[in-house]
Amino acid sequence: MLASSCRRVLADKRGLSWRIQTMLPTKLARFTAIATMLIAPVSFATAQQSTPLTLEDAEQWLRSMFDMGIADFSVSDDEFHSAKGDASPGAIAYRAAKKLGLPCAKICISPPKVSLAPDSGVDKGQPVTGGGVLFKGRAAEKLTAGLPVRPWRTLITCPHEEVANPERVHVDAYGNVHVCQGLSIGNMWSTPLSELVRDYDASKHPIVGPLVEGGPARLAERFELKLADAYVDECHLCYMARKSLLPAFPQYLAPAQVYGL
Ligand code: SF4
Repeated sequence: MLASSCRRVLADKRGLSWRIQTMLPTKLARFTAIATMLIAPVSFATAQQSTPLTLEDAEQWLRSMFDMGIADFSVSDDEFHSAKGDASPGAIAYRAAKKLGLPCAKICISPPKVSLAPDSGVDKGQPVTGGGVLFKGRAAEKLTAGLPVRPWRTLITCPHEEVANPERVHVDAYGNVHVCQGLSIGNMWSTPLSELVRDYDASKHPIVGPLVEGGPARLAERFELKLADAYVDECHLCYMARKSLLPAFPQYLAPAQVYGL
């Protein structure tokens, strides 16, 4: 099903990422679908917990993906995904992919820091391939301590995703179609991806609508959320606001795992 409806699938969990290039139907030609597929990463994780991952193990896991015709494989290899160094699962997966002949790239995220310069927005809506930490998901909760903060009312843009007119979406293993991690426009197991994309109207989405109007500050205002006075950046506020809205909008803020639940 993915192969017929997605142009690109990206999986990223526990230091293992891969992308699948297939052709989209014409109407979806500008969409890139990014899918989080759990089977292999979970297997890697299981292998990691019992015995260290070996190059041979990694080759076995990746060979089936290679046989599927995956055209673009990315692996996260930094201290936020696993240990550093040549023995990290990411480094081993990368070497195994190279050995197999999978087109492979590494994603390495720099240590958390805050840039005081306004975001240029040049890479907005594009896949993350490096740079600093984006304070979304786990990073918003685990990596923001001690960083400088800004008043929440000043966080009035969505700096990293084109949520109004997305050119890519993320698709997770549960079928949720995300315009940003944990911000769903529907589930492709119940509604075809083509329909979700065709019918998507940001202004009618209860979470995306306010984000487009005035960033996460507008989202917090719209729902009169009780939050802290200041946040590290827009995504930090967005994540915390969305997490507090999860009980009210579980179908739009999915899966719960993104919010640590
Ligand atoms: S502001 Fe929210 S929707 Fe926009 S990129 Fe950040 S986390 Fe995603």
